[in-house]
Amino acid sequence: MDLVDTHAHLEEIEDLDGAIRRAEEKGVIAIITMGMDVKSSLWSLNESRKHQTENLKIYPAIGIHPWNASSINDTEGDLRFIEENVHRIVAIGEIGLDYWYENARENLEVRRRQKEVFRRLLEIAKRYDKPVSIHSRGAWIDCVETVIEMQIRRAVFHWFSGPKESLKRLLDHGYYISATPAASYSQEHRAAIKYTPLENLLLETDSPVNYRGRRAEPADVVKSLSAVAELKGLNELRVAEETTENAKQVFGIT
Ligand SMILES: [Zn+2]
Repeated sequence: MDLVDTHAHLEEIEDLDGAIRRAEEKGVIAIITMGMDVKSSLWSLNESRKHQTENLKIYPAIGIHPWNASSINDTEGDLRFIEENVHRIVAIGEIGLDYWYENARENLEVRRRQKEVFRRLLEIAKRYDKPVSIHSRGAWIDCVETVIEMQIRRAVFHWFSGPKESLKRLLDHGYYISATPAASYSQEHRAAIKYTPLENLLLETDSPVNYRGRRAEPADVVKSLSAVAELKGLNELRVAEETTENAKQVFGIT
């Protein structure tokens, strides 16, 4: 079966070529690799595809992560960099808001900066009709409402673990969420996946994030797959087929 890891940070993986080989053995045919700032976005643009194989394609995304939004020195320059390279990517990501990060809940300036950078990146996505990969931790409703307000056509709320009201809003607008290996144990993530129709679901790993002490790599997308299949009461092949088709549609890859 064919699988797509729709959200990974390949530049942070040690032994990347080994990881790609292991992913290929599990049936992974494509990986979307994210940018966190200009440096990792440059890696995504210029280096990531050197690691792809005949059977496993790597597609670059570039963005500014909310963790970096309040500390970048040259916001205008960084945004210009994203816009100048928008034709070379399949998505803008990883972008979003994170009110649990450091003191974002109390510190209004941090939140203001996150929101400003997020909006500006969504404007670029809108202008060039690119899908977005969104980090929404602790800021679920603000993320969802901003994406709706900005009339973004294609959005994936990655590793979505927010409340049902936010989830309902994003699904009403035809947006997607993606399942990580945490779908086997995180109650919030499981509840979101259970509620989401298969046609709005994607699979991912967010590699190399640690899941219960083990660093993930793209091959672990099979863990996301089996957790979704279990939650939905469907066989893995069916879930693989449908989520891979969804991934192709959202990111315009073949
Ligand atoms: Zn991520």
